[in-house]
Amino acid sequence: MLVDRYGRPVDRLRISVTQRCNLKCFYCHKEGIRETGGPELSPEELSKIVEVAASLDIRKVKLTGGEPLVREDIVEIVFLLSQHGLQDLGVTTNGILLSQLASSLADAGLMRVNVNLPSLKPSNYRRIAGVDRLHDVLSGVNAARDAGLTPIKLNYVVLKGLNDNEFFSMLNYARKVDAILQVIELEPMGSGRSVYGDYHADLKPYEEWLHQHSSKITTRSFHLRKQYLVDGVWVELVKPIHNPLFCLHCTRLRLTSSGKLKTCLMSNDPEIDLKPLLDKSEWRELLREAFLKAVALRKPFYQ
Ligand code: SAM
Repeated sequence: MLVDRYGRPVDRLRISVTQRCNLKCFYCHKEGIRETGGPELSPEELSKIVEVAASLDIRKVKLTGGEPLVREDIVEIVFLLSQHGLQDLGVTTNGILLSQLASSLADAGLMRVNVNLPSLKPSNYRRIAGVDRLHDVLSGVNAARDAGLTPIKLNYVVLKGLNDNEFFSMLNYARKVDAILQVIELEPMGSGRSVYGDYHADLKPYEEWLHQHSSKITTRSFHLRKQYLVDGVWVELVKPIHNPLFCLHCTRLRLTSSGKLKTCLMSNDPEIDLKPLLDKSEWRELLREAFLKAVALRKPFYQ
């Protein structure tokens, strides 16, 4: 396994398969990707990259966007990636297209989904996402569950004064659909940068409440994220801001939709362009070297 100079193993790759999206969430961090547009990697190109990643023990892959399910070839992408002996293959989606795609994605080899659910109130959802599609998202969650794309994680980014009073309804909903609730701190990246001052909420009150009311507390090795079991529901806290422990336990590389390896959501480290390597006859060796170079560049954002 690759280990960076801070002693952090690298075992996961978060891939933006597109920058296109069918929503306009006003806080979206856009996965820290600054480039706009550019040709998207093809399923075959993504497959080559994941084959080499898996050979380096990077075997946990999450597909993201933009919105990954707007790619017409998303099922083919999942199928090709699933051929590389991955330990985890998931998608992070806004859920709008999930009811149509869940069973094909599961058949193609997808293991699980994270669904972005910033609100359960239609009016809040519209304010946040720009469209009236909450109903589609909830149908998507049901379809994902029926297709066995579990455990489902619900991504609840907390926005001060907007959805920060929805924690208990989120908890009840997570219990109803048998999902894990991820309570996520707003990050000042992409569109999140300009709204951070107005909407960033400290997650401390949730943490304290969870601490008091959980029957079990565990800590994931990834980001040292705490998980709390409350009345049969697992709640995971994602608290990256000014959190050196989060960064010290980050084991992830990122890939942009046009093929650039990125070392961190927040950092401005030079990106490593894999695209020119993919057509070369020695692509396996070249990609391998590129992964080693990216790992060598990694440094914790908060230290
Ligand atoms: N379109 C997909 C979706 O909605 O999940 C994938 C892309 S979206 C950037 C991935 C996840 O990032 C979302 O589910 C949301 O939970 C999280 N996210 C977006 N903007 C964020 C921000 N400013 N801070 C923290 N998390 C954010």
